[in-house]
Amino acid sequence: MDTKAFKRSLQQSENYHRRGFGREEEVEGMLKTEYQSNLIGEIRANNNTLRRGDVTVRLAEAFGFCWGVERAVAIAYETRTQFPNERIWITNEIIHNPGVNQRLREMNVGFIETIEGQKDFSSVQSGDVVILPAFGATVQEMQLLNDRGCTIVDTTCPWVSKVWNSVEKHKKRDYTSIVHGKYKHEETLATTSFAGKYLVVLNLTEAQYVADYILNGGDRSEFLAKFQNACSEGFDPDFDLDRLGIANQTTMLKSETEQIGKLFERTMLQKYGPTELNDRFMAFNTICDATQERQDAMLELVEEDIDLMVVIGGFNSSNTTHLQEIAIEHGIPSYHIDSADRIGPGNRIEHKPLERDIEVTENWIPEGKLVVGVTSGASTPDKSVEETIEKIFQLKAVALV
Ligand code: SF4
Repeated sequence: MDTKAFKRSLQQSENYHRRGFGREEEVEGMLKTEYQSNLIGEIRANNNTLRRGDVTVRLAEAFGFCWGVERAVAIAYETRTQFPNERIWITNEIIHNPGVNQRLREMNVGFIETIEGQKDFSSVQSGDVVILPAFGATVQEMQLLNDRGCTIVDTTCPWVSKVWNSVEKHKKRDYTSIVHGKYKHEETLATTSFAGKYLVVLNLTEAQYVADYILNGGDRSEFLAKFQNACSEGFDPDFDLDRLGIANQTTMLKSETEQIGKLFERTMLQKYGPTELNDRFMAFNTICDATQERQDAMLELVEEDIDLMVVIGGFNSSNTTHLQEIAIEHGIPSYHIDSADRIGPGNRIEHKPLERDIEVTENWIPEGKLVVGVTSGASTPDKSVEETIEKIFQLKAVALV
């Protein structure tokens, strides 16, 4: 499929919307009540610090809802207002936050189910309205919905679209897109649907494996087995690694994306020499500002004297997980929760350690003086952060005023 031509024609269709419906003021009050927090506003104004009794809470300088997420949620709310009687669907979670998705369910927005790894669009009919989430949808899904005569409301974050443009450029010049991301993540699935040849690498270790293969060759079968779900159909490491373009899932660890880009640049330089580098390697900066700011703020926070860290965000939220990783790398006990409901009853917390299932820790708040660092992922409303802070204070039996 000529994905670029398809996108262009879709954008000209009167059934395609990507800018909301001019109803911002109508939904503003609702969004404010449901997601914003006065307490967080006060803490921000107080140098991101709140002290009550023995507990000091230190908030990261940047955290929570990013611009792209706020925009997507607002457009989804506007959609409900614009189409009060139509059936509305969303192809996936609007963002990785259970509370926000639940609110949409309450507003009678249906979520397309995934059955045995496949999206089931059988209930979607002509005339239905279908929202595409902030991290986008695959080009095949867009085509199916367009062919079925649906109204498409596309809330894909422009930062994600920027990555799609990058892989389109790789494809045009017959480069293989090396995508730093999680091959199963919805955003990466969408990105690779626009790519020609591609290979998804999860981290620097996988990237190094590929770089070594480029320089020294290796076991082709082992390579293909290792990346069996993470490459384009018919990908052949012996032929498809001679021209590379770098792309990324926007929420990966920024430092790692940069290292991977540099690694492949060095690799192509070493293999083909400086005169050929421009014809062999292409990279654009596609790490989104919000991801960068939240990670930078976390890197500053972990340099402080913090006793423990609470990271709030969906368990399937990639950017939240990376914030957690930073705390762990700095040796700070860290608890990843997806809502304040995970705290209690009593001094217990249900949380998700990195790369492990959810577990319960008893007596997680120690006695005595305590400095708690708090941050949240780009899909977490301030309300969740406020509720978490309130619970921590309650645990220390300190009333918030
Ligand atoms: S994290 Fe970045 S790419 Fe993702 S929605 Fe927010 S602004 Fe957009």
